[in-house]
Amino acid sequence: MTMNRLARLDHKYLWHPFTQMKDWLREEPILIVAGEGPELIDARGNRYLDANASIWTNLHGHRRPDLDEAVRVQLERIAHSSALGLANEPASLLAEQLVKVANPPGLFRGKKGEAAALPGPRLAKVFYSDDGSTAMEAGLKMAYEFARRTGRGPKPRFLSLGAAYHGDTIGAVSLGHIDLFHAAYRGLLFKTDQVPSPFCYRCRFNKAKPERADAREYRRCRWECLKALEQRLERARKRGRPYSAFVFEPLIQGAAGMRPQPEGWLRRAAALVRDHGALLIADEIMTGFGRTGFRPGDKTRNPLFACHHEGVQPDLMALAKGLTGGYLPMAATLSSQSIFDAFLGEYAEFKTFFHGHSYTGNQLGAAVSLASLRLLRAPETLAARRRLQRALTESLSRLWKLPAVGDIRQTGLVAGVELVKDWKRREPWPAAAQTGARVCRAMARRGVLTRPVGDVVVIMPPYCMSEEQIERVVEALDAGIRETLGS
Ligand SMILES: *Cc1c(COP(=O)(O)O)cnc(C)c1O
Repeated sequence: MTMNRLARLDHKYLWHPFTQMKDWLREEPILIVAGEGPELIDARGNRYLDANASIWTNLHGHRRPDLDEAVRVQLERIAHSSALGLANEPASLLAEQLVKVANPPGLFRGKKGEAAALPGPRLAKVFYSDDGSTAMEAGLKMAYEFARRTGRGPKPRFLSLGAAYHGDTIGAVSLGHIDLFHAAYRGLLFKTDQVPSPFCYRCRFNKAKPERADAREYRRCRWECLKALEQRLERARKRGRPYSAFVFEPLIQGAAGMRPQPEGWLRRAAALVRDHGALLIADEIMTGFGRTGFRPGDKTRNPLFACHHEGVQPDLMALAKGLTGGYLPMAATLSSQSIFDAFLGEYAEFKTFFHGHSYTGNQLGAAVSLASLRLLRAPETLAARRRLQRALTESLSRLWKLPAVGDIRQTGLVAGVELVKDWKRREPWPAAAQTGARVCRAMARRGVLTRPVGDVVVIMPPYCMSEEQIERVVEALDAGIRETLGS
């Protein structure tokens, strides 16, 4: 078969992200020409289930009529005008809605039989940017200046989690701790510290032998990861150089390999951080907008943000990926009033936040974000998300019978399936074997598209995926593992 003309152009002119281009140029790429609901359609007319929601961005499926309509209506007015010196309609309306959903009523009341949630600030202000990295970059600079202006020393320090990923711009990379991505740029980065990521399956503190269940359920430890955090904070305080902020992904670390946190970790960690006077910076870029689902059995609460599952309110919250429902690049950094106030002053004091991008507050992005938020809050989509979360759990459970499946970890509407040589010893495959990528290629041949993180296959469906389609995704994964690694 001769190569599609557009695929040839891709090969001739494009450089793809996170891609070894030498491998890329070896075979004809799948060239997407259309989408419909949870499906992607290629130039040859093949249909695929979009099992990682187009790299974790898509919420409601492709060509969702209400979202398409929101873009069209806005387009008839204006596509973009600058936020430097001008306000605009959808950006104002969206900021109001974001502040509303980021401060859910009852968050700090605590449920019956549960400790009252942590007091935290109200998230009061919205700073727009373009993607996850820029949202983190803005938050980082806000926290840095806030710390300096409130007398916490000339050189604020940041603490983040092991294997953290917060984006690819230099500030965001400095907060990250994935050597494979970050080591090459060490010379460009500023120093940050890390504490052990709470990752029960491969935690050095977990004394439990592997079982055929999510490692969080049978972990044997004494929260040593939290003790390590406390010691770090304590040591920094004693040396007179306390941390200015703790940066984290709440409930589950995505690019770290879908590392879910045991229940109660975030609440406890946040309390320690607050005790030591540091800010909490939540990276909700992957976890936000309902992705972390519902706690089984909890019929009353359905927080849109992962922090709120644990009753934690950060001082800064970064949002991107799902903000526009996966339609357009747009991001937001939400801040507390007191951080905002630290930038107020007479012009000549030069306290202005000197930071911003050309497309800040883009009207098309804001308009579709508003439509996406409306959909998220509609009762019928809520019910669909509950069903989908249950279906995902049920479908995935059949994979435990495969010896190459070491761990299956699900948080709401996101799951990671870790492939190993031997589940009884959690023994990994060598990285160069690209086991995860080979399994995903076998899945693509069966009409299911996703991308692994190392040897962790990610399942992150658009919320409109049906139970039958989720079953097909897991079937393709099951068959892909057997074909690649034997049964
Ligand atoms: C994707 C991601 C980012 C970076 O977002 P981009 O839009 O790719 O710049 C940052 N943090 C987390 C947790 C992410 O998943």
